[in-house]
Amino acid sequence: MGGKEMEMPREVLIREVGPRDGFQSWPEFVPTEKKLEVIKALIQAGVKEMETTSFVSPKAVPQMRDAKEVMAGVPRNGCRHAALVPNLRGAELALEAEADELVVVISASESHNMANVRRTVAQSLEELGPIVAAAKKRNVPVTGAISVAFGCPYQGDVSLEEVFRVAGGYAEAGVKRILLADTTGMATPLRLKRVVTAVKEKFPELDVGVHLHNNRGTAMANLYAALEVGVTIFDTALGGIGGCPNVPQAAGNLATEDVVFMLEDMGISTGIDLVKVIQAARLLEEILGRTLPGQVMKSGPRDPELAERICGIPRHP
Ligand code: ZN
Repeated sequence: MGGKEMEMPREVLIREVGPRDGFQSWPEFVPTEKKLEVIKALIQAGVKEMETTSFVSPKAVPQMRDAKEVMAGVPRNGCRHAALVPNLRGAELALEAEADELVVVISASESHNMANVRRTVAQSLEELGPIVAAAKKRNVPVTGAISVAFGCPYQGDVSLEEVFRVAGGYAEAGVKRILLADTTGMATPLRLKRVVTAVKEKFPELDVGVHLHNNRGTAMANLYAALEVGVTIFDTALGGIGGCPNVPQAAGNLATEDVVFMLEDMGISTGIDLVKVIQAARLLEEILGRTLPGQVMKSGPRDPELAERICGIPRHP
């Protein structure tokens, strides 16, 4: 069999998740105005959709305690700001703060869902209905993420049935877009193609994006594989920050600027300006005060003059 291979897409949607997935796992509090500075730089670079913050319990995730202030401070023109919500209470707060989109996360495996939100998968699916109904009242779309869709750090392999169960719950609740998340970087290209193809065939009504982590160095290969089976929605994080607070050894997301570099060179439009997004990543590195995993922010664009000017790469005569 092997997935139906399509032509490469002409354009893709980059969902920037650094302000949520990245900051959420950062050990020290990032001041609100610094978060906003990074968010503004991302929008200036052309980011059109972003996971901007998360309305979780401030006790559980102190980093996100300024969710309301962040939402109040972001520029609204031209960028859709999504907020991650763990439950109905979070959804209500996000809607009050005028989030443009809600993101719900349910794990494909019981063990990861329990560790992440202390609920069974069935309990999480039950809570979905009221969240979608609350969002619908305000005409706000809900996106459904499926954690550990390609493998679980507690359980190992995750079956297609487990992924279908959550995808089916989303479809039934009226969710239109799902994100298959490789939460701990366990996907490899053929495995990813199998899962994505199966989900797209079973749920043709759903838009399917992928959220890829690089724990085992396979994230960029997985992105290429996803393109080959028609995926056009990709979660990435500036500088390659990100992780999962409940997963040991969590590693970053694909770096936005690395993905923009590769795709634009392949003739696939991202709508994001490479130079500006590299500058945003370097600003982020300066703010966080630590070397970030992104590669292109260190080596620069292909143009040697630009690489020298933006990243200080010396030109050899
Ligand atoms: Zn993630």
